[in-house]
Amino acid sequence: MTAPGTLPTGVTRLDAPCWHLINQYNEPHDTGDGCPHYGSAIEAAANIDGLNRCSPPGWVWRAEQVDDLPCLMAACEGCGYQLDEDGAMTMHHNSVEEIEIALKSCEWKIGSSGVFCPECVHEDTKA
Ligand SMILES: [Zn+2]
Ligand SMILES: [Zn+2]
Repeated sequence: MTAPGTLPTGVTRLDAPCWHLINQYNEPHDTGDGCPHYGSAIEAAANIDGLNRCSPPGWVWRAEQVDDLPCLMAACEGCGYQLDEDGAMTMHHNSVEEIEIALKSCEWKIGSSGVFCPECVHEDTKA
């Protein structure tokens, strides 16, 4: 068990809460795989038009800062690649438990010296 507040090596918490899109019912946009997050209000706002177009008539989306702790991100110790960084949308994780599940589902490994993407797993020599 990881003590509360202690992050595994390679997992970092962002400096500030992210932005997401919420509809007129105050429901966050959820793709079914999670709620996409954006690094800034501008980035989030850039996605509003597209979302309005594929939503039921009358729906209105707006950008709002996530009312929660800043998210956790994981970067590969071997190549620096960030989990989810090349996705069209960024799925973030708020608890160590959540990010561990995401890492596992992407075949990443939490090693003793950090987290490793599937290509760099062999570099965790201290495993
Ligand atoms: Zn890597
Ligand atoms: Zn986030």
